Parts: sequence; structure tokens; C-alpha cells
Amino acid sequence: MALMIYNTLSRKKEIFKPVKKDNVTFYSCGQTVYDDLHIGNARMYSNWDIVTRYLEWKGYHVLHVQNFTDVGHLTSDADSGEDKIEKRAAEKKLNPWELVDRQIQKYYKDTDELNIKRPNIMPRATSVIPEMIELVQKLIDKKFAYVVKKNVYFDTSKFKNYGELAQLKLEEDKTKPRVIEDANKKNYFDFALWLSAEKEGGKFHVMNWNSPWGKGYPGWHLECSVMAMKFLGETIDLHAGGIDHIPVHHTNEIAQSEAATGKKFVNYWMHGEFITVNGEKMSKSKGNFYTSRELMDKWGSMVVRYALVNTHYRKRVDFTDELFLNAKNNIEKIYDLFDKLDNKSVFGKLELDKETEELKKNFSDSMDDDFNTSQALASIHEFIKKANINMAALSKNAGINAREKITELIGVLGIRLEKKKETDIEPLMNLIISIRNKLRDKKDYETSDYLRGLLKNIGIELKDDKDKTIWTKK
Ligand code: AMP
Ligand code: ZN
Repeated sequence: MALMIYNTLSRKKEIFKPVKKDNVTFYSCGQTVYDDLHIGNARMYSNWDIVTRYLEWKGYHVLHVQNFTDVGHLTSDADSGEDKIEKRAAEKKLNPWELVDRQIQKYYKDTDELNIKRPNIMPRATSVIPEMIELVQKLIDKKFAYVVKKNVYFDTSKFKNYGELAQLKLEEDKTKPRVIEDANKKNYFDFALWLSAEKEGGKFHVMNWNSPWGKGYPGWHLECSVMAMKFLGETIDLHAGGIDHIPVHHTNEIAQSEAATGKKFVNYWMHGEFITVNGEKMSKSKGNFYTSRELMDKWGSMVVRYALVNTHYRKRVDFTDELFLNAKNNIEKIYDLFDKLDNKSVFGKLELDKETEELKKNFSDSMDDDFNTSQALASIHEFIKKANINMAALSKNAGINAREKITELIGVLGIRLEKKKETDIEPLMNLIISIRNKLRDKKDYETSDYLRGLLKNIGIELKDDKDKTIWTKK
């Protein structure tokens, strides 16, 4: 089966065909680094991590770029309010640069623990200011942008397909009341590319750069277009973000990128659904959020990761303890199987080849269906059931393979299974058993029984079969 991806642009699942056969270019919108990672953010980055892992598992080479927004994201996506970072820095009496540094370190710590693989390139918005100024100038030169009071705006009336991604009904939407009118803008949907750093009372936005339009800083949407094009090219395969990015952020990214290059910016747009609390979006601004850190401390990082992956990325999920309890039970089922396989001392001849093939097929069919992770996990648990039912008949090899296959496939979903200590004692047990056999050969039954007694004290039983000794651990 070919990989099908639900493309927000067409509102359909489409066969995935990268521009360059085996090399995928992938951009996902990253964190605005003013606060800790909440579990909604973590869900989003886990989704995109799985996209990368699965594509790599299928044999693609993926170049994944994800930004850190460290300037220019205002409290309202429609260019009003304060810069989130400067606002929080002032509250904490920190320099914004210091706040950003601190939050990026925390971001890495949390996402590393959640086994979210670091994207190949993670640039900060502030690292591409010259390129952003260049793009704004290009848009002004091409008459897609205009300057008012040292701010630069994108003129949406000049861009033919503005709003296609979000299926905006431009005429209808224009009649809706606007929360905060920006008198500088010519048209309702126009958005800021560059903002003047001058504030009332002769003050300046702390993060500011010289530009042809005076001291200023970039508008939020600009950075993603610039970073995507700088590192991945003018047309990229995949671009991902939360559904909240569809109407403004991604709509504006398309407009400014395509106006500048005249080329299609993105071939496949993926958008992830929210985690809600009592039906409302979990968000920092509403204060109804749980940090990844507190949940990892409570449940363990892999239980949290499992809980995040257990629902398909395009399905909304409400936050409850059940999510984590369910994940914990499911992980325990896997470890229970591993324990049984480790402690098995009598082996049959059943290889589980057919079942393993079936597992691989069901897993990849599910993932090929727009990354259906919940279905993929279900196929792993189906396999676990079969292995349990056939436990007595399993060969030693079947046990080893089952363990390896489960670990590999669940790893594609970013769930890391730890190697259990029990497997490590096997060579040591073989050594002890051979010493005991030597003692018995020499008819030193007193010492050999002493050894057996010591093992029993720590829960290891020895049973002498016809021609070999078998050990089991309680
Ligand atoms: P932000 O830092 O608010 O820009 O969010 C970073 C990423 O997390 C974006 O892709 C958002 O779409 C996503 N996000 C924010 N809140 C939630 C939520 N409640 N559930 C899932 N994703 C979210
Ligand atoms: Zn973005």
C-alpha cells in the first residue's frame, strides 16, 4: 500500500509523492519559547516526530526543520497585543534573550525525555533576520507589500488565492466585526511582515534590528517561510502544525512565500488536532494546561508518550486520567509478555513467522493510512494476544523475534521499551549451572545443593531435566 496523507489543502487523503523521490523535505512549526511545554504542544511534536520516524522506517531520507519562535509572536495571531516573549520576560524581570535561552534548554530536556527525536535543523527566528528583511524587500518591490508608519504589511488583495488553505470566504468574513482594528492596514486580511520597534514614551521593543524601514522586528508568519525556503527550498514536500495555524499563520505563509517565488510553497499540509480540557482547547493563555514535566513525573515519560500516540493525530482528545491509565495498562501488557518470554524454560517448535508477517503488514497498512497510530498500536496488541495464547508452543527463537519486532515497531511511534534486567542474567545463570554440574560430576552434592539453596533464596529455581538443567525466576 502507498502512503496516503490527508492534505488540508484538498481536504482529501492523497498518495504521498515527494518532489525528490527518496528525499523528503519537511517543515513543522515549532514552539514559541516563552513558557514550558504543555501536553498539547507535546502531542503536536510527537505527531511530527512519528511522521519522520515512519518515513525513515519506510526508507526515505527526511530533512526535518523545526523553528523556535523567539521573537514577533504577538498575543493575538492577528497582529495585535504584545510580543509574548517580551511580555513574559518583563513579568519575570528577565531580559527576553535570557528567557528564550532558558526555555529552549527546558524544551530540549522535556522533548528528549519524551523521546521526540530532535529535528535535523532547529533554527531560531532571530537567526534569520537578514533573510527576513530580504524577503520583505522583495515583496515590497513586487508590490505585494506596503509600508505604513515604519511597519510593513502584506497586501492580501494582490494575492489571487489568498485564504485557499483555510477555505476563507473573503467577502463574508470581511463583514464580521473586528476585535481590534488596525487602521494602518488597507484590507481586512492584511498582515504584518515587519513591525516598528518604537513604542510610546520613546521606548523600544527590546529585540530589534535595523532595517530599511527603521528599527523593527519581524512579524510571526515571516520566519517560517524564510526558514523553510532557506533550508529546504522554495517548494517543500510536507509542512505541519496545529489546526489553529490554518486560518492565519499558514494562510499567510503561503501568501508571502508564493508571492515572492511564484512557485507552489508546500505540496502536503498536515494539521494536528488539539488536546482539550472539558471540551476547551488546552492553552497557556487560558491557564487550563498541564505541563509535560508534571505528567512525566506522575506517570513516567513513556506512559505519557504512549497516551499521546494512542489517538490519531487528526482526532481531538479530551484530557483525563483515563488516557494515562490506559497507556500504562497497555505498556504493562507488553512487559508482561516480555517477562513470560524471558522466564520461559521449556520451548516448543512454533516460530510465529506468519503472525510476525501479519503484524508487519497490519502495522504498515495502518501507518500508510494517514499515520493511523491507534490502529498501528492495536495491531501490536493483536500480536501480543497471539503470542500469549501460543506461549507454551513457542520456540526460543520465536520469543526473541517477537520481542525484537514489538520493540522495533513501537519504537517507530517513539515509544522506547527498556531492556529488562532479567535478560541480562542468562549468561550468568548458564555459568552457575555449569559450575553446579561440575560439582555434581565430582559427587560434591553438599556444595551443589548449597548453591541451589542460595539461588532459591533469591527466587531462582533449578529443575534437572533428562540431559539439562532448567532455571526459572519467580
Ligand atoms: P504555541 O507555542 O502556542 O505556538 O504552540 C506550539 C504548537 O503546539 C502549535 O503547533 C500548536 O498548534 C500546538 N498546540 C497548542 N495548544 C495545543 C493543544 N491544546 N493541543 C494540541 N496542540 C496544541
Ligand atoms: Zn510556523
